[in-house]
Amino acid sequence: MHSEQVTAEPPSKVDDVPSPASGADRAPLDFDVIIAGCGPTGAMLAAELRLHDVRVLVLEKETEPASFVRIVGLHIRSLELMAMRGLLDRILPHGRQRPAGGFFAAIPKPVPKGLDSAYAYLLGIPQPVIERLLEEHAIELGAQVRRGCAVAGFEQDDEGVTVELADGQRLRSRYLVGCDGARSTVRKLLGVGFPGEPSRNDTLMGEMKVGVPQEEIAAKVTEVSGTHHRFWLRPFGEGIYSVLVPAARVSDRAEPPTLEDFKQQLCTIAGTDFGVHSPRWLSRFGDATRLAERYRVGRVLLAGDAAHIHPPIGGQGLNLGVQDAFNLGWKLAAQIRGWAPETLLDTYQAERQPVAEDVLDNTRAQTELLSTEPGPQAVRRLLTELMDFDEVNRHLIEKITAIGIRYDFGEGPDLLGRRLRDIDVKQGNLYGLLHRGRGLLLDRTERLTVGGWSDRVDHLADPTAALDVPCVLLRPDGHVAWIGDDQQDLDDHLSRWFGRPAG
Ligand SMILES: Cc1cc2nc3c(=O)[nH]c(=O)nc-3n(C[C@H](O)[C@H](O)[C@H](O)COP(=O)(O)OP(=O)(O)OC[C@H]3O[C@@H](n4cnc5c(N)ncnc54)[C@H](O)[C@@H]3O)c2cc1C
Repeated sequence: MHSEQVTAEPPSKVDDVPSPASGADRAPLDFDVIIAGCGPTGAMLAAELRLHDVRVLVLEKETEPASFVRIVGLHIRSLELMAMRGLLDRILPHGRQRPAGGFFAAIPKPVPKGLDSAYAYLLGIPQPVIERLLEEHAIELGAQVRRGCAVAGFEQDDEGVTVELADGQRLRSRYLVGCDGARSTVRKLLGVGFPGEPSRNDTLMGEMKVGVPQEEIAAKVTEVSGTHHRFWLRPFGEGIYSVLVPAARVSDRAEPPTLEDFKQQLCTIAGTDFGVHSPRWLSRFGDATRLAERYRVGRVLLAGDAAHIHPPIGGQGLNLGVQDAFNLGWKLAAQIRGWAPETLLDTYQAERQPVAEDVLDNTRAQTELLSTEPGPQAVRRLLTELMDFDEVNRHLIEKITAIGIRYDFGEGPDLLGRRLRDIDVKQGNLYGLLHRGRGLLLDRTERLTVGGWSDRVDHLADPTAALDVPCVLLRPDGHVAWIGDDQQDLDDHLSRWFGRPAG
């Protein structure tokens, strides 16, 4: 495990911290970071923090991992992140690789040639599997996960956060991160607004057996899915089908629907209930679209569905949350290890909130395009034509797969602020050098140095690296923080992202 040499207390910039808690709460800090929620976002964040020896506790309210099998797609950028941490080889055998195209409003178009990634495919994988693998990864790195522990309250003061569990137990940490999903307790207790649109269309989803032959189902599904986009019966193996059908009404209930609800809706939409029986699990989801007004209040932060929700069209929610965690992990670790520049932690919201805004917008657009009304159908036909232009198709794929993201790092070449694709370097591949979550100077000039930042930033001098520019400085999340060949300019940017040099 990599251990930072700079351990002095950070000159922390903590805004809006409520008045200090009572003296009795000023117990010693048990942890550096407590994470509420062990979904994909919480588990990924815990692992990222552990790369920097941060003491992490994940509190998960459920005693057992979720049982219902949502198949999610890991898009290109998430696959790249997994490769950057050496996780991709572990994940790949559990999923099915599919072409990366055809996800925008389910408009079937081929993948444009030369998509800029070494991992240019979609990996279909059950969500419980990805959750388990990420949790195992976090635990292997030393994170503590406690199940059956719901965060019920907290108070923050100038030294830390006192977290109260549902059973009354109290724990202290320097920071608390709410990765506790759409109905986030942490967000609500923080009083952070969650403006947006309520659900307009609810959908029933479940797995169950059917009572009619497969050919009959296939014929009916082909007939109905021409007019209803939120409808399918897909064989899942062992006689089980995945069933998706619009719900009768919009509901904010947390309780799952009944088999009777499915039967009624199948009859309404398809004229038959397909003899469905013996459900494995039944669930309901809506298309509410909301974005947290703030991602940070003092020592408490939000990530994943706790910060943003949107319809699952295009399969982006889990990807977005995991990418939030990747952005936040090294910054929060830097704050705790003592080398964070004053405003580094605030760049988390500055960078990630606009990305979520964009995802919310593209799902709003896709929702319209899935409407069966004549106006949206006409727009869909027009967009389908436009997507025959390679650049339009490419732009939409880069949006959904998150490889088109460019953070605003100021004036500079187009590559500045973007993620760098995996490339061949003399020691193998670039992402293979990023497993420890440190910065990296990729130097084709062989005359630069990372000097006093070598405890946080690696240096690879490689004139053969497949780059169009002399040198790049990569942040631990793989985004390009600097491009150039001048040592003084490099030092200024090392300070900007990695704080003061050691020694
Ligand atoms: C039908 C459907 C299909 C989808 N398909 C895709 C897809 O293809 N691709 C994609 O990227 N996304 C997809 N999504 C979205 C994806 O499932 C979510 O975006 C993702 O689960 C968010 O992860 P998270 O960790 O932020 O939150 P969650 O997965 O909701 O995890 C939050 C965790 O916090 C726990 N928790 C809650 N309250 C507390 C508390 N007070 N204390 C402690 N723990 C608490 C919960 O038990 C839970 O384990 C889909 C969603 C649906 C409904």
